[in-house]
Amino acid sequence: MTGGPLFNRIAFIGFGLIGSSLARIIKRDGLAGHVAVYARTSATRNRALELGLADSIWDTTAKAVEDADLVMVCTPMGAYGTVAAAMAARLKAGAIVSDVGSVKEPVFGSLGGPLPEGVHLVPGHPIAGTEHSGPDAGFAELFEGRWAILTPAPDTDEAANEKVAELWRRAGSKVEFMDAAHHDRVLAITSHLPHLIAYSIVDTACDLETHLKGEVIKYSASGFRDFTRIAASDPVMWRDIFLLNKDAVLEILGRFSEDLAALQRAIRHGEGDKLEETFTRTRAIRRDVIDAKQD
Ligand code: NAP
Repeated sequence: MTGGPLFNRIAFIGFGLIGSSLARIIKRDGLAGHVAVYARTSATRNRALELGLADSIWDTTAKAVEDADLVMVCTPMGAYGTVAAAMAARLKAGAIVSDVGSVKEPVFGSLGGPLPEGVHLVPGHPIAGTEHSGPDAGFAELFEGRWAILTPAPDTDEAANEKVAELWRRAGSKVEFMDAAHHDRVLAITSHLPHLIAYSIVDTACDLETHLKGEVIKYSASGFRDFTRIAASDPVMWRDIFLLNKDAVLEILGRFSEDLAALQRAIRHGEGDKLEETFTRTRAIRRDVIDAKQD
């Protein structure tokens, strides 16, 4: 597939960082004949119009999805059940429903459960983001060179899978198809655990006595600052991610806790060799990330 619109009508349900970034690409490159936007608040809906990213705005999900060829759900995942129930009866036959949520296995129940026969569910997850939220935080380059992982069920219509894959390729992403449960295990280590650690470290600092807390901020460039960026991510979105990917996160957290205890022991017993050996291994991983252009 090259050039031209991919869809006649795309409906966005939720229009924050991720939804508005994708819409910027769709508008810039003419990938849809019409972009319909539902967002929860009138402020976000109006902003979608002001930014020139919506052809129509809607105050209900049901109206927004009417006649859409692709519905892209970009809300926090805790809202999926309500979104699916509201739109199911209004979707046209052959419509594709996709999403950008960070956990994939629960999507089949929450979003897919209420969908009628003849509607294709192609769950997706762009591995790109920032700690900022809302339609003004979006930008068209967000997905460039990043992975977009698609996790449809094995019997999903191939043409539907390919249309969603092509949308992400046009956004500059590399596309990979993956089993949903496998995705959730991989993301537990690459994304969910690092966020949990960042939230926890920053919270530890919050609990310090006032005079120490001031110094944490003052000298934060020594490492703490990098954690504060991650720990500034949207609280509702991340609440939903941990609740929905509970098993995989708890499994990887168990392994992490053991490794942390081993480092604690090495420090206590003055085992410099062990520390150096560990840090040498982790340094090599950083080089691999840079070589893979994911830094
Ligand atoms: P965001 O900027 O906070 O935008 C969320 C959008 O969803 C807003 O339009 C908001 O409406 C709407 N919304 C919030 N709660 C809702 C509810 N209960 N019912 C209906 N609509 C609701 O979020 P985002 O960063 O784009 O994240 C959206 C999805 O992308 C999440 O599922 C997340 O897991 C996934 N994701 C995020 C990142 C990231 O780095 N941020 C990366 C990859 C995937 P109002 O503005 O009107 O309140």
